[in-house]
Amino acid sequence: SGSVETLEFQAETRQLLRLVIHSIYSNKDIFLRELISNSSDALDKLRLESLTDSDLGVDTSDLHIALEVDRDARTLTVRDNGIGMSRDDLVELIGTIAKSGTAGLLEKLRATEDAAAAQNLIGQFGVGFYSAFMVADRVTLLTRRAGTEAGTRWESDGEGTYDVQAVDGLPVGTSVTLHLKAADQSADDDNSADYLSEWKIRQIVKQYSDFIRWPIRMATERTDADGTTTSTVDTLNSMKALWARPRSEVTEAEYHEFYRQITHDWVDPAATVHMRAEGTFEYEALLFVPAQAPLDLFARDTRSGVQLYVKRVFIMDDCEALMPDYLRFVKGVVDAHDLSLNISREILQQDRQIRGVRRRLVKKVLGALKEMQAGDAERYATVWSQFGRVLKEGLVEDGEQTEALLELVSVVSTHDPEKPTTLREYVGRMKDGQDTVYYLTGENRAMVENSPHMEAFAAKGYEVLILTDPVDEVWVERVPGFDGHRLQSIAKGQVDLDGGTDGEGAADAEKAEREQDFAALLQWLTTALTEQVKQVRLSSRLTTSAACIVGDAHDMTPTLEKMYRAMGQ
Ligand code: ADP
Ligand code: MG
Repeated sequence: SGSVETLEFQAETRQLLRLVIHSIYSNKDIFLRELISNSSDALDKLRLESLTDSDLGVDTSDLHIALEVDRDARTLTVRDNGIGMSRDDLVELIGTIAKSGTAGLLEKLRATEDAAAAQNLIGQFGVGFYSAFMVADRVTLLTRRAGTEAGTRWESDGEGTYDVQAVDGLPVGTSVTLHLKAADQSADDDNSADYLSEWKIRQIVKQYSDFIRWPIRMATERTDADGTTTSTVDTLNSMKALWARPRSEVTEAEYHEFYRQITHDWVDPAATVHMRAEGTFEYEALLFVPAQAPLDLFARDTRSGVQLYVKRVFIMDDCEALMPDYLRFVKGVVDAHDLSLNISREILQQDRQIRGVRRRLVKKVLGALKEMQAGDAERYATVWSQFGRVLKEGLVEDGEQTEALLELVSVVSTHDPEKPTTLREYVGRMKDGQDTVYYLTGENRAMVENSPHMEAFAAKGYEVLILTDPVDEVWVERVPGFDGHRLQSIAKGQVDLDGGTDGEGAADAEKAEREQDFAALLQWLTTALTEQVKQVRLSSRLTTSAACIVGDAHDMTPTLEKMYRAMGQ
């Protein structure tokens, strides 16, 4: 072996190290995910290189990652037989932070006092390897680049310098040994984080690295009741990242099994969306529409069901940046290739590319629902019964998808009280000369159907949508119309029946005469009801009822008024 050379970390690297060590991360477990992800990248690179360079002379038949625990020495080692690093690679890659923008980032970090803000900033790029110093007070790295003979030993306490030394006889690949910090009794989180425990390591691998495509192995010892100890090597990860496989190679049973795994829902999903986007921002998505709604679908803090991965490494649950609120029932996985492992929720929310991904996913999910509506009406009816109310929230939240969402709306109407209709079917049945979609909202169906407002419409044979969800009150006001047809409440303003305005259905002369007849009554009613109504009008709306109350075009409906009152407004 060669002599030891002590080098200084680049100034910026030193600053970053200090930040990492002084716990920017509330969750120290992620160090293992970072090291495993580096090993996985190194294995990918070696395989690729061995395909293009036949002189490399390395055995690629058993590429894997091994985790080794030495309880006595208090070390945890992450070993891979991947591409490895040369001495120069090491100094350049580990001793320096070559990434552009680092200086500016550190500048901002120094200016912020707030730990959460610091974490957001750092989420913009990876600290990767350095996260080892969150749990270790010394890190030893042994590595040999494939295709070369010279190996290198690198060691540092993360305090400002590192040692490098040439070493003979190393296998190709890299091992990173963490000399774990003694459990810090003063810090609560350290007490639980026993990174020498088999159970703890299994749990972290399962959570963050289950879908890494290379086996992650660990030797474990079992002592039987009779005292005999057997040693076995277990593979800790499942490696089955179904989303990364071509659609044509995945069976429906596999999709359903995967769905069960990530949701613990025993009912098969109603729809599966599997897609891959290539180009400047690559990602894969595997999403499911469940067949039944969870009990907490309308709870205040119900969260999105989409998990974010970066190149098969688990990053976070409930990634709300990828799915709008009104699709919170959608479950699944998005694997984006070009994000930092440390990306934060806040950064994701602001990222333009992520917004693009979300738009595309929304379109895909709504498209799958539309397809189901056309191809499997029965299944669609159950999905709508489970999630229709939530989808209608989208008509309020998401102006961009109004048209797609309106196509999905399924609602009962006076046409056939037994069978819900779509707006498109309604439009297909509109009477000659009718250009408006009529609806009436109310607390329940009986109230709407028996409303005096219905009378004239029923008598004239106009179809009226019966809307009884509280959210219906809101979206009907928001949407500009459907397929060029205005939506009009029959309880509001001047409704156009028979081509005339309310009260003008009769010929002008006749109308004037009638108003003359009723003038005294109208005057008396207006005075008597001055606190309750704005105006008393003669109407042609009613056939059997004597009177009804009509809202101004822009008034709140009674249900909406009640909703706002309930919210304390
Ligand atoms: P990132 O993975 O985001 O590039 P890291 O700090 O995790 O940042 O790693 C820095 C670099 O060090 C990697 O890009 C890689 O070139 C090199 N490296 C780290 N670990 C390994 C390893 N196990 N095998 C080969 N190269 C590695
Ligand atoms: Mg990394």
